[in-house]
Amino acid sequence: MTPTFRFRAGSAGILVLAVLQFSCGSDSQLMRASRSASAAGAAAHVAYLASDALLGRNTPSPGLDSAAAYIARQFRQAGLQPVNGSWMQEVRMQVIALGDSNALALTVNGTTADFTLKDDFVPFDMTANRRVAGDLVFAGYGITAADKKYDDYEGIDVRGKIVLIFRHEPRENDTTSQFKGRKDADRWSLAAKVKRAKELGAIGLIVMNEPLSHMSLAPRGFPWPSLSRIIPKDALPMTLMTDDAEKIPVIHAGERVITSLFGSVDSLKKIQQRIDADLHPASFAFRGVTVVLRTSTVVTIHRAQNVVGMLPGTDSTLQDAPVIVGAHYDHVGYKKNAAAGADSIFNGADDNASGTSALIEAAKAAGAMGTRPLRPILFIAFAGEEKGLFGSEWYARHPLFPLPRTRAMLNLDMVGMNAPDSLLLIAEERHRSLEETARAQNGGSGFTLVTSTLDAGGSDHMSFTKRNVPALFFHSGLHPYYHKVVDEASLLNPDKIARVAGLVFRTAWTLAGTTDR
Ligand SMILES: [Zn+2]
Repeated sequence: MTPTFRFRAGSAGILVLAVLQFSCGSDSQLMRASRSASAAGAAAHVAYLASDALLGRNTPSPGLDSAAAYIARQFRQAGLQPVNGSWMQEVRMQVIALGDSNALALTVNGTTADFTLKDDFVPFDMTANRRVAGDLVFAGYGITAADKKYDDYEGIDVRGKIVLIFRHEPRENDTTSQFKGRKDADRWSLAAKVKRAKELGAIGLIVMNEPLSHMSLAPRGFPWPSLSRIIPKDALPMTLMTDDAEKIPVIHAGERVITSLFGSVDSLKKIQQRIDADLHPASFAFRGVTVVLRTSTVVTIHRAQNVVGMLPGTDSTLQDAPVIVGAHYDHVGYKKNAAAGADSIFNGADDNASGTSALIEAAKAAGAMGTRPLRPILFIAFAGEEKGLFGSEWYARHPLFPLPRTRAMLNLDMVGMNAPDSLLLIAEERHRSLEETARAQNGGSGFTLVTSTLDAGGSDHMSFTKRNVPALFFHSGLHPYYHKVVDEASLLNPDKIARVAGLVFRTAWTLAGTTDR
């Protein structure tokens, strides 16, 4: 996780909160149950989760699976229930390698030419494992931006056709261009262009560099180890599993493809010049041209588990509208090439055995209440956060309860170090009420709560906030041991973890007693 912060003091919601507490469990009841979240319990969890035996809990790994089994046992002992009969939600990941039957053939006015993998075309990593054939349409930069009154797809029909586009955006080297700026960069990314072409019914996408703004027209695509002598064979990224049916073939094409379609690079330069001149698209359907495109991939599936446990609610109208309490339990594993005798294991005690321990202790406190709130409270230990929020992103794509009905997500990441009495509460401006709920429950924990609103990214709550689920992030700040082999259990403060667990439990319970969102 890599967060940034801005600071601010609290608000006028106290009155609302007083009413809420009365309906979902008195302060004293909450405080009594909070005492079940203990420093001894937290210390025991951290000692196991951050032990060398689990080899840094990489995703996927046997150490991670052992941690998952441990957490499930703890959830059961805390009195939680499995969800749909299981304590596990399987997270599927994929490693994609290039297959060996890739082909590109263009028929131009009846003459068919075959093109060569690597020299003339290279597939991108999001390509499908499929053969497609059809007519060809040139669609400029492949961008639709209504706010910029620019649409390369205006007036052309790409349904069932293969689309040919430029790789980047108009006026690429012009820093004053309306397409410039970090804020919009994702909108013209290749992934966004693939999504747009698919939305409009395209069956394949061919991408080329802009000849006016790029010296080289050589196809790069994805740096497949199988097409290179220097790239290590295992240098293939792991991503979350996506359904091949949702993909289309996507390739990067070079100069030979360009000249066979446009006659020369110069005539393509003229087209680019025309578009960039007044930002007016110049898209058209090729006549007398058909394309046969085949990209092949070999997908290796890897599995890990999100660990789930639930305290059911009492209000029948809210059984699909939980409060989620989450923490990632994975870390980054160990160094493969460490010197003999050197410490090679990234134990990940604070990141994030501490948050996972607070999650378990909060579950214990919830189980100790002896009653039930109106809404269910769903406790989730996420896998794969260090790989790119894999577990929480997977949950958000395959939610066990409808996301729009989810009342809130409370995330715990790195809560066991730094000053014993300071804790950061991070939420987006629009979710400030969550921070006030926590602040009102802080009496029992006595933290100096520091709050921030600046795009509180970098951890699992992001998978929820980007889907408009209100989220509050509990975090106690970075430190020099972050992602180092020395992030060990002995450095943590179990008492702090237990107090964080109590605060999170009371906040979750209070929110689970509300009927509104
Ligand atoms: Zn973390």
